[in-house]
Amino acid sequence: MGQTASREPASRAALVEGVVIENRGALFEVHVDGHPVICLLRGKLKKDKQRQVAPVAAGDRVRLALLEPGRGVIEEVLPRTTDLSRRAAGSVPLQQTLAANVDHAVIVFAVAEPRCDRYMLDRFLVAAGAGGLESTICFNKCDLLPPEARGPHFGLYSEIGFRALYTSAYTGEGLEELRAAMTDRRSVICGPSGVGKSSLLNALATGLALRTADVGHVTHKGRHTTSSISLLPLPFGGWVADTPGLRQLSSDGLTHAEVMDAFPDLEPYAGQCAFSNCSHRHETGCGVLAAAAAGKIHPRRMKSYVQIRGGVR
Ligand code: GDP
Ligand code: ZN
Repeated sequence: MGQTASREPASRAALVEGVVIENRGALFEVHVDGHPVICLLRGKLKKDKQRQVAPVAAGDRVRLALLEPGRGVIEEVLPRTTDLSRRAAGSVPLQQTLAANVDHAVIVFAVAEPRCDRYMLDRFLVAAGAGGLESTICFNKCDLLPPEARGPHFGLYSEIGFRALYTSAYTGEGLEELRAAMTDRRSVICGPSGVGKSSLLNALATGLALRTADVGHVTHKGRHTTSSISLLPLPFGGWVADTPGLRQLSSDGLTHAEVMDAFPDLEPYAGQCAFSNCSHRHETGCGVLAAAAAGKIHPRRMKSYVQIRGGVR
């Protein structure tokens, strides 16, 4: 080992740091100071395969050895701050990391066409919070709703304390605020199809969604299905991950506390429950149910809570 001058420096060379932009099967595209480097993975890093489908994911910060210009080997994966994962199909203990170190979820719903499914919105808020992500809600296609109808339909979310924007990819309304919310952050854009996610990305930066269109391909590897995920650099600073796989954040395996975190409107009444382990769904002496009955909690939110909480084991 190490007989040739060209091999030895590869393992001993000073390592440089980069961000994984995309996982392409055995190869990874890593950006180092804005320049792409195509990397292989050092063998020892593959050992984790028993537990994770991909030991390295888009968004991971890695240290790599440069072999030649544009080519390298990933030697080390730096600790993740967040981890968006989903269960790999067909196998319960396997977690598949879809994107690492994402810190912000842009949750897009349309005010109309398609009608906003608030239960689904609430599920996204729970999943994003549980994944350690801050959320920005975009009520998109706001051009389809007269301004005076906004508050009665959607004002609830900002009243509760979520950041909620009215946006229109058509008129440009709200895009400055959205751009500001995404600047210098690593965001994932999610929401049902047809709400205008691609249109919003294109309105923020021309050509962005065009690029997102061809990264959604699916590869089949054994019994696992892996979506290729790519981070897209934003011209105003930061990154956005946009893939069909991430558009549906999973709310599998949630804890009671994680669900409650996304319901700050129920929280003030939880202290008034007769039982400290109250699930606020059917118990007698429940302060939250009493508040809901007294009209202090929006019925839709209460319904979402009961449904989401019902899925928690
Ligand atoms: P995606 O599936 O979430 O990426 O949605 P698209 O960006 O493909 O948009 C779905 C449809 O909604 C397209 O026909 C768009 O032209 C339309 N659309 C997108 N944004 C807006 C908007 O702000 N206002 C209106 N009226 N239509 C929009
Ligand atoms: Zn209760």
